[in-house]
Amino acid sequence: MFIFGHIGITIGVGMLIEAITNHQHTKERIQQSESDYSTGQVVKGVTNSRVYKPNIIPVGKWLDYRLLVLASMLPDIIDKPMGQVFLKDTFNYGRIYGHTLVFVLITGILGMWVFKKWGKGWLLIMAFGSFMHDMEDQSWRWPQVLLWPLKGWGFPKEDLNAWLSGVYRAIVTEPDVFIPELVGIVILALAAIRVFRNRRFQYALKTGHIN
Ligand SMILES: [Zn+2]
Repeated sequence: MFIFGHIGITIGVGMLIEAITNHQHTKERIQQSESDYSTGQVVKGVTNSRVYKPNIIPVGKWLDYRLLVLASMLPDIIDKPMGQVFLKDTFNYGRIYGHTLVFVLITGILGMWVFKKWGKGWLLIMAFGSFMHDMEDQSWRWPQVLLWPLKGWGFPKEDLNAWLSGVYRAIVTEPDVFIPELVGIVILALAAIRVFRNRRFQYALKTGHIN
């Protein structure tokens, strides 16, 4: 998958998760305030004394879509220059460490720690975007990469010139390549329309929130 597919579909899934967790959060808050009210805690003011702990839900509170755009391309941002340019002689391949589940796991675990400690979600966003990227790349077709190092320490190799011409051919001829690109463009267009319609373009640019 290429740029619009990766960015658009990842943003779309992010918006979906945001909407679901928002809904869940609102429901829980209504239930909480009902139970506080029935136990008299609201009257006594006990609810205000709860200790602050960063809550992962609702996701919309910390989900920065600017970072999600970056995260949706992160495996390629790491692997393409490293595997096809700087360490070309060693790898000669565009899917290496950044496209592995190990990378997602490490960023995810560290991301949870950073979130719990400082309430910052940027590393979790990187883990989520990288995971989405791997799925959109259909990485299960290259288990030697996805499951690295379970199937050996090395990575496959490829002919870079053939890869480039294959990329151009795939964009125009292969439906499983150009359809996700179109879907991504439609999602991005819908998100942009929503931001413009709410007159929140500057707000979105400044904060990374699009709701
Ligand atoms: Zn990729």
